[in-house]
Amino acid sequence: MNVHEYQGKQILKKYGVVVPNGHVAFTPDEAVQAAERLGGNLWVVKAQIHAGGRGKAGGVKLARSLEEVREHAADLLGKVLVTHQTGPEGKEVKRLLIEEGLPIEKEYYVGVVIDRSTGRIVMMASEEGGTEIEEVAAKTPEKIFKEVIDPAVGMMPFQARRLAYNINIPQDKVNQAVKFMLGLYSAFVDNDCALAEINPLITTTDGRVMALDAKLNFDSNALFRHKDILEMRDLDEEDPKEIEASKYDLNYIALDGNIGCMVNGAGLAMATMDIIKHYNGEPANFLDVGGGATTEKVTEAFKIILSDQNVKGIFVNIFGGIMKCDVIANGIVEAAKQVELDRPLVVRLEGTNVELGKKILKESGLKIVAADSMADGAQKIVELVKESA
Ligand code: ADP
Ligand code: MG
Repeated sequence: MNVHEYQGKQILKKYGVVVPNGHVAFTPDEAVQAAERLGGNLWVVKAQIHAGGRGKAGGVKLARSLEEVREHAADLLGKVLVTHQTGPEGKEVKRLLIEEGLPIEKEYYVGVVIDRSTGRIVMMASEEGGTEIEEVAAKTPEKIFKEVIDPAVGMMPFQARRLAYNINIPQDKVNQAVKFMLGLYSAFVDNDCALAEINPLITTTDGRVMALDAKLNFDSNALFRHKDILEMRDLDEEDPKEIEASKYDLNYIALDGNIGCMVNGAGLAMATMDIIKHYNGEPANFLDVGGGATTEKVTEAFKIILSDQNVKGIFVNIFGGIMKCDVIANGIVEAAKQVELDRPLVVRLEGTNVELGKKILKESGLKIVAADSMADGAQKIVELVKESA
């Protein structure tokens, strides 16, 4: 789960990571009030969407008067911002962060990730802040420094100091940078983060070290023990189909293709997507209905797939183990009753109660193409979708 920049900063602040003063605003009036509360004569109006690259896309604006704060706020609220991370459809701006404008001396990058190859948390830092870190990694990988953290002892001060020296933080600000990095690491661990990215970390001309941006991502499987973070969830930022799926405990992820997939088991779901691609098709989603799915759950899953306008055909690929084939069949029939099944459907069933499942589908009168194997099913759905295009 992602949170907004202003929420990420609120969390970091509790760990001693210095962030600019700022307030969230939902209207131009609130934006002006926020600026008045902050005082000073330079403010930054920042669009709050769950995507980076806002600066380049015009989502971060400097204001030198309260009037300018109001103008920028009115301009940004309701605007659809297209950044390199939003996709071409963009994201509508519904909240703003009004922040004190800071005298930036230099911008750096600091990120914390879970590194799968070492199975450990890694803190990365670079002198090349503000820009896209992916670009730095591709062109000048030697400018990214890493510290692998031993979970038994946590991040050691010497590791933070080494990072600070490696990225050339000025001598007089190294201690602040060390405190910053150790705080960031604690915030990451305490809150079960999957990613924490500060781009940029800045030094200011008046001698401070601060997080000017904050991107935090949390491990969804750990959210049950972080009610305070779960409250920060912004459903406006999520795919409605994925929200619906999470209500029914379905593992669903929307993708760009046009073949809807309903599968049980994450491994089989991955394999199904692979085989669709192998036959030159494009999956519209990843969906694992899970082992103990009920007819109701299968019905909802099917409705979610059908609600996707990009879906031009559906491939059901079930290996009935704990999940029984007749339950799947009943779910498909039930869903088809509730929403019109107006697109080709290929079903491959195998395993427990397979004969009963096939019988239910056959007697339902639905137009279903039966497949004998995964490969057969994938070829058939790719073919049918091509024909309907
Ligand atoms: P994004 O990564 O989405 O583009 P950032 O929060 O990193 O958004 O802001 C982009 C740029 O805007 C920063 O690199 C910095 O130069 C400038 N900026 C952001 N916040 C402030 C601030 N409070 N004061 C001064 N400049 C800022
Ligand atoms: Mg940034």
